[in-house]
Amino acid sequence: MQETALVKFLRYAKIDTQSKEDVNETPSTQKQFNLSRLLVDELKQFGITDAELDEHCYVTATIPKNTDKKVSIICFVAHVDTSPEVTDTDVKPQVIENYLGGDIVLPGDNSIIIKESENRNLRKCIGGTIVTTDGTTLLGADNKAGVAAIMTAAERLMNDSSIIHGDVKICFTPDEEVGKGTEYFPFERINAEYAYTVDGDMPGELNKETFSANSATITIHGRDIHPGMAKDIMVNSVRAAADIIAMLPKHMSPETTDKYQPYIHPLGIEGGVMKTTIRFILRDFETSGLETQREILQNVIAVAQTLHPRAKFELVIKESYRNMREKLEEKPEVLEWLWEAAVRTGTDPYWEPIRGGTDGSKLSWKGLPTPNIYTGGQNFHSRNEWLSVDGMNKAVETIINLVQIIAEK
Ligand SMILES: [Zn+2]
Repeated sequence: MQETALVKFLRYAKIDTQSKEDVNETPSTQKQFNLSRLLVDELKQFGITDAELDEHCYVTATIPKNTDKKVSIICFVAHVDTSPEVTDTDVKPQVIENYLGGDIVLPGDNSIIIKESENRNLRKCIGGTIVTTDGTTLLGADNKAGVAAIMTAAERLMNDSSIIHGDVKICFTPDEEVGKGTEYFPFERINAEYAYTVDGDMPGELNKETFSANSATITIHGRDIHPGMAKDIMVNSVRAAADIIAMLPKHMSPETTDKYQPYIHPLGIEGGVMKTTIRFILRDFETSGLETQREILQNVIAVAQTLHPRAKFELVIKESYRNMREKLEEKPEVLEWLWEAAVRTGTDPYWEPIRGGTDGSKLSWKGLPTPNIYTGGQNFHSRNEWLSVDGMNKAVETIINLVQIIAEK
């Protein structure tokens, strides 16, 4: 009997692989190697002889083809790290079999409740198996459910010669959560024509679109002096920053938008009288919309400048990633195969825009078209995270279907 995806997932979830922001090395944390090393060992146990881990914590492996037909090489990608937002130390997954419906109160912290009213997908899982946290950590289904799905499919493909496929590559990456998952992506070792990240949501939901994304900072320089003698001399950059935040369009925030709507999100502010820095992320599905967002920030600064004539304002905008749709539509077969693979599992597939980025956006723009497949995970980056095990099993089936469909074509 082959080990289930659930058993694999529980083993991986207990290994702390949290990545860290603002580290100039890949991987950003050495502990990510603990899972990656284990994955290489397990891949070798499946009989995959070329399984390899490099110094930047990328795992690569090849499931060798079992047909003489010329079949496109595809790669499945998942990330081993978990979000820096919530601790991944000492994860205690709670497995709920035969979920009966209703809210789920987490045992380690009774204030953390997975509410039916906030989780429309819970109802779809009645009668199924769910994994939650104990309420004190995240679960890491993002993306260990994807890792477990790929590992389960790999084991099956190595053991079942009746499934005909070309060379199938696997790549597990570090640091996706800090936006550096593709920094040292081993394109040469992978050498694939198409790839799929397995890093999505509920079964049926497929992703070919991400935001186009920039980051921005506004730095305001003021002038400090003892408040007792500040009249007509002090320039308080804190007040200027507050005015800027107050002028941002409220209908363009993450809290007030969904689906295809863009946003400007001030996610951090730091400073004092002398200098205040506001950090933003800018998101739009149309890359041209990011230019509009630049203009909005410039206009806000222009007004703030009139209110604070002696303050100095600086705006810096940097590119983060771009919507992958444009690149994927150049090779529509990568989407058609995925759609058919999902249909064959018995789910009703649909395309959902990702209000974020995936490694797929960067890979697609670097020439490797990479849409995204569901994993069954929900409420990522939070203590409310949960996983539909049936959803994860659908991901395994989808992977198996995909390799067959590509070999059939
Ligand atoms: Zn992820």
